[in-house]
This record gives sequence, structure tokens and C-alpha cells, in this order.
Amino acid sequence: MVLQPLRPFIEVQEKGWIGCGALLSSVGRETDVPRKRRAIAVPPDVRTDGVDHLPTWGTRQRCKHCTVSHFSHVFCSKCRVNLCLNKHRNCFWAFHEKGTYG
Ligand SMILES: [Zn+2]
Ligand SMILES: [Zn+2]
Repeated sequence: MVLQPLRPFIEVQEKGWIGCGALLSSVGRETDVPRKRRAIAVPPDVRTDGVDHLPTWGTRQRCKHCTVSHFSHVFCSKCRVNLCLNKHRNCFWAFHEKGTYG
């Protein structure tokens, strides 16, 4: 008697799995594609064009310019990368300076 109310539930679950066949296969395809989440490449010509590169206060993230882990709240509104901008380091300026990229 205990199993009886469970049966319809299982049936619905099974139908759900079959019904989601298309959805499941699409999820499988997504895992095949490597996630490009690490480096956001900023084209050098955009980076040094000097137009609309405004320092914006955002979430604290690793500086894109520093080779060691420095964290900064300041990011470029155009390049969308975090850069140090304080009395010790001005990576914001260095990052956008012509010839320093690479
Ligand atoms: Zn920029
Ligand atoms: Zn930095």
C-alpha cells in the first residue's frame, strides 16, 4: 500500500526524462565546447585608441596588467578588465600605454 502513491510519481519522472531528450542532448553538446572563460583578449588597437577608456568602480578582481596577483576594484569600461589604480600602481595607465602591451 505504501508503494501505490509512489507509482504515478515514478511514471511522471520517466516521461520527464524521455520528454527532455532534446534538452539533454543539447546539454551534452554544451559540455563538448571548451569554456572560454579565462583571458578576455582586448585588441591592441582598441586598447590603445584612447577613446572611452573610463575607470569604473566594480567588483574586486585580479589586475589584468600585473604579472603577480594584485586585486583591484577599478576596471576599464571599454576593455572590461580590472586594473590597479592606486598610489602605488597605475596599471590603468600602463595597460593603455602604446607599446606596453604583450
Ligand atoms: Zn581600456
Ligand atoms: Zn596591476
